[in-house]
Amino acid sequence: MNNYDLDPEMEREIRKEELEWEKAVTDWQADSKAEREYYEQLEREQIAWKLRWPGHCPKCGGWGMFFVPGKLTGPPENCYPDESYPCEHLSDDKCHRCGGHLIEDNGNAVCDQCHWSFNDGIPEFIPN
Ligand SMILES: [Zn+2]
Ligand SMILES: [Zn+2]
Repeated sequence: MNNYDLDPEMEREIRKEELEWEKAVTDWQADSKAEREYYEQLEREQIAWKLRWPGHCPKCGGWGMFFVPGKLTGPPENCYPDESYPCEHLSDDKCHRCGGHLIEDNGNAVCDQCHWSFNDGIPEFIPN
């Protein structure tokens, strides 16, 4: 038996490993493509949001508060745990999205110009 004459069992084993490796590479390429597209899409949404709300608060990105830990900012349903603190960059009566004036509406602070109420900001990465 020379070096080029592998035992068929061994040959099957090697082929199997090659196929597994090829599949791993293909999966990885698909994952990184999906990931790249996700971030590109997110970036487009962020740019569109900033163009729409040029007067937003630069500190909190329009959310009006910070959420810790995990996802740092965003609406409460996308954050964990539910620990949050308000952004104090603007005075209490200022809208963090458009810079407008906050008025009280049924116990909530609502912007009288864009109707924001701590419910919107720059689109962010949302963990699965
Ligand atoms: Zn703010
Ligand atoms: Zn506003």
